[in-house]
Amino acid sequence: MHSMDSHLQIEVSPNPDPVSPERLAEILANPGFGLHFTDHMFVTEWTPDRGWHDARVTAYAPILMDPATAVLHYAQEIFEGMKAYRHDDGSVWTFRPEENAARMVRSAKRLALPELPLGDFVASVDALIKEDEQWVPDAAGEKSLYVRPFMFASEKFLGVRPAKHVTYMVIASPAGAYFPRGVKPVSIWLSEEYSRAGVGGTGAAKTGGNYASSLIAQQEATENGCDQVAFLDTVEKKWVEELGGMNLYFVYDDGSIVTPELSGSILEGITRSSIMELCGKLGHKVEERRFSVDEWREGVASGRIVEVFACGTAAVVTPVGRLRWRGGECGSGGDETGPVTLEVRQALVDIQYGRAEDTFGWMHRVV
Ligand SMILES: *Cc1c(COP(=O)(O)O)cnc(C)c1O
Repeated sequence: MHSMDSHLQIEVSPNPDPVSPERLAEILANPGFGLHFTDHMFVTEWTPDRGWHDARVTAYAPILMDPATAVLHYAQEIFEGMKAYRHDDGSVWTFRPEENAARMVRSAKRLALPELPLGDFVASVDALIKEDEQWVPDAAGEKSLYVRPFMFASEKFLGVRPAKHVTYMVIASPAGAYFPRGVKPVSIWLSEEYSRAGVGGTGAAKTGGNYASSLIAQQEATENGCDQVAFLDTVEKKWVEELGGMNLYFVYDDGSIVTPELSGSILEGITRSSIMELCGKLGHKVEERRFSVDEWREGVASGRIVEVFACGTAAVVTPVGRLRWRGGECGSGGDETGPVTLEVRQALVDIQYGRAEDTFGWMHRVV
């Protein structure tokens, strides 16, 4: 069997009361992020005896949960984030969905959740997007349909062990441009007190707990006038890991590029790895290695580091401006985005929206 084949029998029950065309047009004109949800959701459940079963696309609705449901107490859950893009000819595509599927398997292993076969993951996302195709916005202004697959311990049980009833779902939400007023640099707060993930912990898994532990640092960032937080390693408190939900890249004055190496506590972004391949094609030398916060500070101060950017599915590529910490700061608070950041961003977005040839074979047609 090809690893992308799926044997899931997906039952589709169309929503009898879908959004009106007027309301949908209103939402798609200004979707924001994570505010509105499509007419359907995908659901399947797992038990040790039956494996994955009862796969269905059904009307989007709240979930009825027992107060003793395990996920609410012990956070045994994982998720993914990806987008569906509409091309100019009306077709709808996802970007490297098999990479999201593979990462979800890795996350599942770490959180002692059952593995969803790669082909079933892709089939679940495709099934939901097909049913909610009208919710995929036009490409104008870099709009897209954000897709959120997630899996959680749905067993009613307060004992501590991996759940024997697990639910996997996919929901989707139209998303506007991350930067409605154009691409603008974000400022970064260096979190010296709080970490998001430690050695042997869950940093490399896409799990809600990592986000829960990053929120207080994000609050600290906001209080200090910054947009985002950068986290350091937990052992030496010296090596730059990533932001709360984005990986980092540093561009040197000789055109070479550095990204922190995967340490076990960094989330392996699909945007990060795609950029690494793209940079090679664009003629930049990319190095994955340990990168210290002193190198960041000194590089920016000396002018050797000329651009910094962050990347992830939601924002694609975000320029980073000023870095602040308790007692100091470096970098400019200006509005300019560097040429390498813009070049990388454009190259990626052009592939995703079908405006450039997909030489890597990254795009997957859904509709
Ligand atoms: C999802 C995520 C990213 C970005 O991953 P992409 O696959 O590029 O969207 C980076 N860091 C963290 C902590 C994440 O959860």
